[in-house]
Amino acid sequence: PPPQGIPIAIFRHPRPKPNRLLAGAMFVQGKSLMSITNQQLFDRAQRTIPGGVNSPVRAFRQVGGVPRFIDRAEGPYMIDAEGTRYIDYIGSWGPMIAGHAHPEVVEAVQRAATRSLSFGAPTADEIDMAEAICKLMPAVEMVRLVSSGTEAGMSAIRLARGFTGRDAIVKFEGCYHGHADSLLVKAGSGLLTFGNPSSAGVPADLAKHTLVLEFNNIAQIEELFARQGREIACVMVEPIAGNMNFIRGTPAWHQRLRELCTEHGALLVWDEVMTGFRVALGGAQQVYGIRPDLVVMGKVIGGGMPLAAFGGRADVMHKLSPLGAVYQAGTLSGNPVAVAAGMAQLRLIQQPGFYERLSAATQKLMRGLAAAAARHGVTFRTDSEGGMFGFYFAAELPRNYPDMALADVEIFKRFFHAMLDRGVYLAPSMYEAGFVSAAHDDAVIEATLQAADGAFADMSKG
Ligand SMILES: *Cc1c(COP(=O)(O)O)cnc(C)c1O
Repeated sequence: PPPQGIPIAIFRHPRPKPNRLLAGAMFVQGKSLMSITNQQLFDRAQRTIPGGVNSPVRAFRQVGGVPRFIDRAEGPYMIDAEGTRYIDYIGSWGPMIAGHAHPEVVEAVQRAATRSLSFGAPTADEIDMAEAICKLMPAVEMVRLVSSGTEAGMSAIRLARGFTGRDAIVKFEGCYHGHADSLLVKAGSGLLTFGNPSSAGVPADLAKHTLVLEFNNIAQIEELFARQGREIACVMVEPIAGNMNFIRGTPAWHQRLRELCTEHGALLVWDEVMTGFRVALGGAQQVYGIRPDLVVMGKVIGGGMPLAAFGGRADVMHKLSPLGAVYQAGTLSGNPVAVAAGMAQLRLIQQPGFYERLSAATQKLMRGLAAAAARHGVTFRTDSEGGMFGFYFAAELPRNYPDMALADVEIFKRFFHAMLDRGVYLAPSMYEAGFVSAAHDDAVIEATLQAADGAFADMSKG
């Protein structure tokens, strides 16, 4: 029976072809009959949730407009509360590398859930996960599971400080390592979006132990180590920065970081929360052939569930409680449902050819976007690695945060909305990387490029 208030006659219209994505919603001739709008949900959300969102970038503050409230997603698509379908290039900010609601991941979660949602005791499945991570990540000999990238990053620096007996840590401007106090010093991501170099509520006494240098600047790190190398517990870095758009660390700079850490007894910590299992099966370690001492992981390893990890050299990991003096714990760490989702996705990404296809799709998208921009005379550059990409309204690729900060946010905003209007959902901030999934097939990429052609045409008119 039709829902209340909807005239019977409407139901005599020919229905659109049955589409699994649309099941559960009321659609007539492609239009949703649901009365709820994103604006209504946003208004309601703001009354009980600060800014209406549970993570700042979701609020669309940089681009303006109304955030889409998502109802469901499948493969490369997300459907909002109004029933509008978008091609998704956020992928939950990285985790959904096999596409949304992959049947094997969903089934693994359903099966795990029937065995209870949490035990707070060890399981055989978390050993499988630890073994898989150690096998795939060249630098990881031992690993501990946690529930978010923030928690993993925070734990890794505590471990580095405990292992070395030193307080100072080094990070790079524009890199984001989660929102732990010590790491919210000129951090990237949402903070850059708000043009805020740091956060209120972080004690200056703590922040002073975090030394922030320019990304890709060899002279600066050499100078710092020469001056106070003996005080530095660790150097933490996103090998390919994904929280100031997409900026590669140069191989020479990464090599120098590795040498300086070794020389001065500091630990090299690679934050592969975004790049891990994303730029290659073995993460950025595989791309660069460099072995960090500790690795921070998240996003892809949870398949969309709250799961993250940190690991690395066995001698360092032995300092962790209950073996060593560095305390770290978690009620839900190694959660069985999260582990089931993560393992199911890890199995999918180990299938032969997975990253070759993912890279090919991403490169096709990048080449197509660049060609469309060129057709319409828009200055535009792209870069990508595996299933992670960046694009810039600039003549040169950025090398660091100051380069990125020069980019024109107004042009980005226009492109973002022109794409959104055409059903393509890009990150609502020019400081974020983009993500392609295995579900983004040729047809999906083609549809995206067609949208981009229209978007660039609009922009060159204005
Ligand atoms: C997302 C991200 C984090 C934080 O992970 P959360 O799960 O959001 O806490 C840390 N480091 C990098 C590089 C990230 O991209």
